[in-house]
Amino acid sequence: MSAAGLKNDADNIRQRLLLLREQNEILKKQLDEIRGLQNAQVGTEEIREEADDDEEEEHVDSVSISSAAPVAGGGGAAAVAEAEAAAAARAASHSSPSLSAQESNIIWPFGADRVDFWKRAPCKTPMPVGPGWASSAGGAGWQIKPDPVPLQIAHITAEMAPHAKVGGLGDVVTGLAKATRSRGHNVQVVMPFYECLPDSVVTDLRLDTTFDVPSGRFWDGRAESFTRKYQAWRGSIEGVEVILLRPDWAASSNCNHFKGERIYGGSYNEVEAYLTFCRAGLEYFAVTNQAPDVFHIHEWQCAAVALLYWEVYHGRGGGMDRPRVMLTIHNMGNTGEVRQDEFMATGVDGAVFAEIDKALDERTIGHNPERLNLLKGGIVYSNVVTTVSPTYAEETLTQGGAGWLGNVLKKYESKYCGVLNGIDQESWDATVDPALPANFSAQNMGGKALCKKYLQTGLGLEVNPDKPLVACISRLVPQKGIHLIEHAVHVTAQHGGQFVLLGAGHADGGFRSMMNGEYRDSQDVKIMLMYNDALSRLIFAAADIVLVPSMFEPCGLTQMIAMKYGALPLVRSTGGLADTVVDVDHDQTHGNGFSFAGSHQGDIESTLLRAMKRYKEDPSWWRTRAQANVDTDWSWGKSADGYYELYTALQNLD
Ligand code: ADP
Repeated sequence: MSAAGLKNDADNIRQRLLLLREQNEILKKQLDEIRGLQNAQVGTEEIREEADDDEEEEHVDSVSISSAAPVAGGGGAAAVAEAEAAAAARAASHSSPSLSAQESNIIWPFGADRVDFWKRAPCKTPMPVGPGWASSAGGAGWQIKPDPVPLQIAHITAEMAPHAKVGGLGDVVTGLAKATRSRGHNVQVVMPFYECLPDSVVTDLRLDTTFDVPSGRFWDGRAESFTRKYQAWRGSIEGVEVILLRPDWAASSNCNHFKGERIYGGSYNEVEAYLTFCRAGLEYFAVTNQAPDVFHIHEWQCAAVALLYWEVYHGRGGGMDRPRVMLTIHNMGNTGEVRQDEFMATGVDGAVFAEIDKALDERTIGHNPERLNLLKGGIVYSNVVTTVSPTYAEETLTQGGAGWLGNVLKKYESKYCGVLNGIDQESWDATVDPALPANFSAQNMGGKALCKKYLQTGLGLEVNPDKPLVACISRLVPQKGIHLIEHAVHVTAQHGGQFVLLGAGHADGGFRSMMNGEYRDSQDVKIMLMYNDALSRLIFAAADIVLVPSMFEPCGLTQMIAMKYGALPLVRSTGGLADTVVDVDHDQTHGNGFSFAGSHQGDIESTLLRAMKRYKEDPSWWRTRAQANVDTDWSWGKSADGYYELYTALQNLD
């Protein structure tokens, strides 16, 4: 039992048990109801927990399709309902609670319930937050001012957060779409209507039209053309208009594109499915005569839109001359390799694109047959190409960050740039986050200390405010600098700090050994190999230092979230990490964290020791720096400025 558990007197324990029993009863009832209602739906945490069970599986491969509130985090219906009520009451209140009132309102973890204390509501009653909650950078985040020229923007994408999200792509699409919509643009998101996307998460869902999509295949060496019946459904998700496209499965019995329980990895040919989807997206705008100003396409899955638009649709009239195309690359690792005959799924023979200046994959020159590469074709055919941070854009051009595609990017350098992602500050808002036992703001930071005490208590760590709490919340894959994280665990424990790791991924072997070996009963190290949103929120709120020592990082969200939750990030200076974290010892005015450049254990060690020393020796400096970090604006507003500039520049192209 932890030190805090020992301190509980018998009355206190009895009282808590009663409270817990009551909560469990409510929880059971509501869960039964929800199970009845949703037995056909797939919940975020269920799927994530499945992924947790599968040690070989990476977070990026796990599906996040959810009808649950984002805060759910495995907390069950009662916790969600309670937390939502608490959040609403907190958001509505401007009065500032005293620290002791906040403290006594917390349902403190103890003894046996510590295992999954993050699965239940953290406080007894809704808690008002401090007066700073409405600070300029908090809440909704971006300043809503209409842009001078309203545009019609159609995102064409494989993912959209929160219900059809697998990785950062989904976050970007939703964040950017919401931000640009709030600035007066007409924004639509066109996405496959995956079978696993529950109807219930789409507001005002209705069948808009059915239409024929040109398609085809090669059979016995000959091209065959035919059409597929497609359905277009409309509605909205997160307040953004969506156009959801799927084959009419009943009308084309041999087509199972986008069927199954997951977004990716269904039992159909994924390349063929996305190629058909790209053609369907363009066909939809042509037949409904609603062509937008911009097709904003994402990743290899939607890159064929650029190829087909310019070779098939442009110049056909019906408004289809108007659009210009922007491609955003979120991950250079997946580029969409495709056989020429497979491209026939779009109704167009892939041979049309099999030229070095089009979509031919130059690595296959001389092979039989030569292949196409969709991302390369997207880069060639799009009017503008972006990636998710300026430094990553530079690294892909000059430091091999894009592999063989680096040469293609170099050739089209004049239309290629990086626009830094934002984070959803409505979701990542410590002033109202219902997963936290005590909320806090830049002006009222007391709650953060309570969050630290709460986490230390719950995890069985020594409850000690003076020990720097170092956290790492990450996919555990080589990209994330596994050897550096492992070393940081030892350094922290040996030098008077505490380390909390929350992670999942195939490279978790070393951590598993530490968890079951030397740190099994540690009061300074806790390693949790799983994915859990609610727990990640508690850790961000409790942490003093958040590590992100990635070997490469296109943008990275963790460091920005850490700052909004009052921690100082400690990062390897690469990609988006270099664009967002400035070392406090290199720039005293703009410094917001700690950074290092190398990739050796010694590099992270010296930086970590520097950070921990600062924490211990200069608490008032630390407090001021943490407050400033909470007040930093990482909203989508700034990114939307960058995208708006590019969208308008596109309108002036011939
Ligand atoms: P990537 O998309 O490469 O995984 P990012 O930094 O862009 O990295 O985004 C990671 C997001 O996933 C952050 O919001 C982080 O909090 C979250 N995350 C990563 N691992 C976990 C985990 N084990 N449990 C909960 N959240 C996690």
